[in-house]
Amino acid sequence: MTVKTETHEFKTEIKQLLNLIINSLYSNKEIFLRELISNASDAIDRLRFKAQTDESILGDDGEFKIKLTRDPVKNTLTVEDNGIGMTYDEVLENIGTIAKSGTNDFLEAMKLLNKEATLTPELIGQFGVGFYSSFIVAEKITLLTKSANGDPAVRWESHGDGEFTITEAEKSGRGTVVTLALKKKEEDDPDFTDEWTIRNIVKQHSDFVAYPIIMDVEKDEPIPEAEQLKDKDGKPIGETTRKVIKEETLNSMKAIWSKNIKEVTDQEYE
Ligand code: ADP
Repeated sequence: MTVKTETHEFKTEIKQLLNLIINSLYSNKEIFLRELISNASDAIDRLRFKAQTDESILGDDGEFKIKLTRDPVKNTLTVEDNGIGMTYDEVLENIGTIAKSGTNDFLEAMKLLNKEATLTPELIGQFGVGFYSSFIVAEKITLLTKSANGDPAVRWESHGDGEFTITEAEKSGRGTVVTLALKKKEEDDPDFTDEWTIRNIVKQHSDFVAYPIIMDVEKDEPIPEAEQLKDKDGKPIGETTRKVIKEETLNSMKAIWSKNIKEVTDQEYE
């Protein structure tokens, strides 16, 4: 098989947009995660819609989920979905241009606003600023995707500097994996490889997403009696709990308006 690899320039409006996003979201960097999760959720929605007329596209992977993976050592964060995925042409079309996406509204609104005006988090919340907002926190984004239509997988990669590469690749199941090689953290920046940072961002911005957003987290688990070290009187010596890694669902999957009022925090109420 000959693998095609191409390097492309972003369309002019994308370059403009990247600069705008990076400047205006500077103090709301965490917005990128909401955007990636929302894309993942849309991709699963679209797959489910298609499956209504052709159930076979689900294959043996009908358990929808969005998986977050942190790697503090490599300084990466990954968002993975088992949604509809993209073909080579779809990646070119969707990730290299601003179609009718929320990003376009954002661009229009930014043009109307005074350049000096800062966008407040509330205002930003009204726009989907899209995939590109990840370049606020990432020095490189790698998107690996495989369409549910059976086409070969595709890898798209960019440093957000005006160019991206796109190539055919290997991927086992359908769906999309977005890996962010995070920028070196500045002093006041959140650490996007930290468990609690990610938990809080998901709770705040993506709690109502309809699919489970899962992540491996560290938990304390009691050590079974039989495995505990004991002294001659049978009293435990040393630890009685141990750290284990467990997958946990971070979001409640409930819309605020469908929650019991007692469960709604002041911030959500606002
Ligand atoms: P928007 O989500 O507002 O359309 P984005 O820039 O975030 O804008 O994404 C552009 C397009 O790329 C999406 O509309 C979608 O078609 C495609 N896309 C992005 N992420 C995914 C994904 N995880 N799975 C499938 N398609 C995706």
